[in-house]
This record gives sequence, structure tokens and C-alpha cells, in this order.
Amino acid sequence: MLNEKLRNLIPYVPAEGEYAVRLDANESCFSPSKEELSQLCEALFAQSLNRYPDPYAKKLITAFSDFYGIASDSVVAGNGSDELIFVIMNAFLQKGDKVITFTQDFSMYDFYASLCETDCIKYTKNADLSVSAKDVCELIRAGRPRLVIFSNPCNPTSLGMTKQEVRQIIAACDNTVVVIDEAYMDFWDETLLYEAASYSNVILLRTASKAVGIAALRLGFAIANDVLIAALRAAKSPYNVNAVSQAMGEVFYQNKELILQRIGTIRDSRKDLQCKLQVLEGKILKKVLNSKTNFILIETDFASILYNKLKEESILVRNISNQYLRITAGTESENQRLLAALSQIIKEL
Ligand SMILES: *Cc1c(COP(=O)(O)O)cnc(C)c1O
Repeated sequence: MLNEKLRNLIPYVPAEGEYAVRLDANESCFSPSKEELSQLCEALFAQSLNRYPDPYAKKLITAFSDFYGIASDSVVAGNGSDELIFVIMNAFLQKGDKVITFTQDFSMYDFYASLCETDCIKYTKNADLSVSAKDVCELIRAGRPRLVIFSNPCNPTSLGMTKQEVRQIIAACDNTVVVIDEAYMDFWDETLLYEAASYSNVILLRTASKAVGIAALRLGFAIANDVLIAALRAAKSPYNVNAVSQAMGEVFYQNKELILQRIGTIRDSRKDLQCKLQVLEGKILKKVLNSKTNFILIETDFASILYNKLKEESILVRNISNQYLRITAGTESENQRLLAALSQIIKEL
């Protein structure tokens, strides 16, 4: 029954179990306040659950667009930006098409590219995990791919490219769709959000799962010019964003001041955690990278040991290819617990 691409498919396995401190998935450490919860309940009560949701999520998209100050007709909503990555690849790629992804980068790009039976070319980042825009451009000119996709700033490296570097990559693409996944750009300031729709070939992705703090609702957004937006509207499943998520997401994006305040707090938490981790740099923690996101990447030969020992303390982080630990910035007390446990573990090693 299973064709070749299905036989080789490995399901994504998120970490299971209960942990006192979860710093593994780059989620926001804020849950909604009492006041927000009552707004959310009101939004929920106003829904006609017997009816299909708005296929174009117009009110949600208006709130999203107002939040950032962009035109709402250049936006499509998705069931998480993850769904949009799949929709984009399904729509723009045909079997055997060439795709360029980066390594290290978000693992779902390769996953969906392989489901679309494409020929995936890898750009390997520099040893310090930085990207050479010049090398990417050369690879694009040589390979002439149908699509290029990368995150900026990057998950898992936490590093970013400047606007100017990303513009160079766009300029190297003639007949190539450039997908720029800005899942973490709320924590940095090199966004191309305000010019994405002015290019013929750019699709920019944003998510409500990280800075906005509603991963559970599954909301993502694609920003592009009219032609590309029309294609994505046609290619997506009609009712891809459910009514509850649309209504609740609208509430969040309308509470702009509160969200911006939380983003500021998370950024401070990350800076503080990064500084304190950099103090622990040495034989065990080889290098703590300078993050542009809400998480920190640590290069270490002891990734598995540290991961397991933290787990024993009920602290969950992410072990990346036994080479790196990725740690999401949490609340002050979560960060403190992590730092206390980690310094103790390092001492004992
Ligand atoms: C978390 C993440 C996403 C997924 O976001 P959803 O909107 O929750 O699907 C997309 N891209 C990157 C780089 C991420 O880290």
C-alpha cells in the first residue's frame, strides 16, 4: 500500500511527558492573563459553531495587518506557518524540481520538500553557523532552483542575516520563489515584512506561535504580492483556519501594547540568560552563540549528557544532533532553575 516516499517517512516525535520547566520548543513563557481569558471567552461565545469558518480569515488578517502596519490584501492565514510551508511547496513545486535549503535550518523544509519528491540541494553554513549570502547566491545561480527557503533569524542557530544580505539572495533569484521564514523576527529588527509584497518572487512567513504566544491555536501568515497571494488562496484547503483560532487570534493581535510589552520582556530574559550562560563557557559549554531570537544555541560535545541530566531535574531543553543544546528563554524563575542545574552538572562532570 505504501509508496516509496511514504515507506521512508519518519514521523515527527515531540518530547512527551511532564516537566517542571519546558525550554525545548521556543514557545512564549507567557500564558494569557485573567482579562485576556475573559476576552477570549467572549470571542468564543460569539461564534456560530454549526457554520464553517471564514475561508479567508478576514477579521484575523485585518488584526494581524493592523498590528504590523501592512496592507491586509497581501496576507494569507494558515493553520500554523507550518501548514503554509506545505501549501507553498505543494503549489509551487513539481516532482523533480530543484529546491535549495540550508543546513542547519528548520527541519520541516526538508521534510516537505521530500514529500513533494523534489531534488533538494543543501547550502552548508560556515563552521560558526553564519551564512555567506555570496555563497548562497552562487549556489542559486549554478543550480537554478524552483524555490529557496530559509529561516531568518534561524532556528536552530539563533543567528540572522541582515536585510541587505537577504536582498542579495532575492536579487540572485530570477525564476525562483524565495520563502523567508521570519518566525522569530519579532525579537530582532531586520525584517523584510514591509517590502515583501513589492517583489515578484518573495513569500514571507510569520507565526503567532512564538513571540505572540499562542502556539496552541496554530496560526501562521504568508505575506506576498497579489499574484502569489491569489495562488496560495487557491491552493490552500478552504477552511484551513478554524473559527475558534480565528476569533482568539484576532483578540491577541488587537492587544498590541500587551504583546509588544511581552516581547520586550522575553528579549530581556534571553539577553540575561545568554550573559549568564556565557559566564559558564569553557570545556563543557564550548560556545554560547549571540542570539537574535528567544532561544540560545550552545555548542557542546556534551549535548546528550547535559540534555539527559537536565531531564532528570525535570528541565527539558533541545538536543540538536548531539552537537548543540537549544534552550528557550523562560521566565526569570525558569531561567534560574536551568542555570542552577546546569552549573551543578558542569561542576560534577
Ligand atoms: C516554530 C517555527 C515555525 C512553526 O510555526 P507554526 O506557526 O507554529 O507552525 C516555523 N518556522 C520556524 C523556523 C519555526 O521555528
